[in-house]
Amino acid sequence: MRHLYVHVPFCQRRCSYCDFSIAVRKRIPAREYVDAVLRELKLLGTTDPGGGEALETLYLGGGTPSLLPPEAIAALLTSLRDAFHVTPSRDDVEITLEANPEDVTPQNARAWRHAGINRVSLGAQSFDDRVLQWMHRSHDASRIGDAVRTLRAAGFDNISLDLIFALPAELERDWARDLDLACSLHPAHLSLYGLTVEERTPLARWISRGATAAPDDDRYAEEYLLAHSRLAACGYQFYEVSNAARDGRRSRHNSAYWSGLAYLGLGPAAHSFDGRVRRWNRSAWESYRRAVSAGLPAVQAAEVLTEEQRELERLYLALRTDRGLPLASLSRPLPPSTAHWVEQVWAEISDGRLVCRPEGWLRLDALIRDLTGVGRAG
Ligand code: SF4
Repeated sequence: MRHLYVHVPFCQRRCSYCDFSIAVRKRIPAREYVDAVLRELKLLGTTDPGGGEALETLYLGGGTPSLLPPEAIAALLTSLRDAFHVTPSRDDVEITLEANPEDVTPQNARAWRHAGINRVSLGAQSFDDRVLQWMHRSHDASRIGDAVRTLRAAGFDNISLDLIFALPAELERDWARDLDLACSLHPAHLSLYGLTVEERTPLARWISRGATAAPDDDRYAEEYLLAHSRLAACGYQFYEVSNAARDGRRSRHNSAYWSGLAYLGLGPAAHSFDGRVRRWNRSAWESYRRAVSAGLPAVQAAEVLTEEQRELERLYLALRTDRGLPLASLSRPLPPSTAHWVEQVWAEISDGRLVCRPEGWLRLDALIRDLTGVGRAG
């Protein structure tokens, strides 16, 4: 296991579109949380959770990991480094913290850097205060630039911004302006997510009672393609469906997922994968905490992937990235229908690989169906 994900479930409120497994708390139970994660690690019953391999990436995601006090983050990282035998002199481990802009104070940023964090992923989402309020975000637009400058002053040069696009038309969100403002901050990395409607969210309720319009496929495609052209002009390269980087600053952690590599997940709702079996933890914080405190496994369920599932997943993951799918890895020749993809310039064949273009990424499910005769929703 060279890749470790740690899920921090706490948020101060729920965003209007979010169905993640979170625990909304005014007071963050930091000590209980750190103890629970370390207890889970101990319950794995090994002195070498990396299985003899050197840790390459560690990702604190959530939730809102930046709500943990910096001393709790430092204590957690120290213990995880010890457990994975990462010596303090090693500075090549990519250690990412997901943060909300309002948590980025000079004091926190310095403490995070001191604790070993070297990459921060900021949940910016939009630079329009009306939109941020609609999303129930707790920051305003001016905090995003402040956060980036504060992080840089503390020594962070690997900063990523998350943005959400394809919002309902009535918001009249100016997507081009948001992209330009994001570029003007020169983050190393950008992650762009199209709005999706998840059950049991405020957004789903607004749509069901007609208070807001459902996301629109045409708007999604238009804004997605606009992002490609705008970000390319600013020097960013999309290396995955939703992720763009400049100067090669790709997320090494997420790239491991897209390469189908093994990873270990700790914390409530965290997933783990060993190349064949996917496991996931109890999702509710209290249930997770009680289980590990009682010495019970955090894992709620597991799924052994069949050969067919692994192959389908391999195709999906390969085609999500700009490396594409090596044709030599296919068990049969490309079906004639894929010629249509090349003609339409939705995909290209380059160096023996089938690589999606942005228009192809918009149609990824259809491409997989053409390749395999099967596909999955979503
Ligand atoms: S901050 Fe992130 S995890 Fe928390 S509610 Fe908002 S979108 Fe969900």
